[in-house]
Amino acid sequence: MRQVLFFRDPGFAKCPNCQSVNSLHRSRARSAKEKLIQVTKLYKMYRCKGCGWRGALATIILTKKMLKLLFMYIVIALVSGVIIREILKRFLAA
Ligand SMILES: [Zn+2]
Repeated sequence: MRQVLFFRDPGFAKCPNCQSVNSLHRSRARSAKEKLIQVTKLYKMYRCKGCGWRGALATIILTKKMLKLLFMYIVIALVSGVIIREILKRFLAA
């Protein structure tokens, strides 16, 4: 799973509002909704010191390539599960 999920630090990302780089700073969650967002660890609250924009940014990027890889893992896990079950069934029946 570690290869599939790629964590990033949105603090180094561009501001979604004014596009300035290195202007984002971690912001404290104010409302209950924002605290809930923070708890998931998928989003963190940020504030732009340039334009005053404030919002949640994703800390995980899931690319198409990563999704494909994740799908492959699930398929392999399911197929090997079925095969093992069939082998065990035959083994126990004999
Ligand atoms: Zn900004």
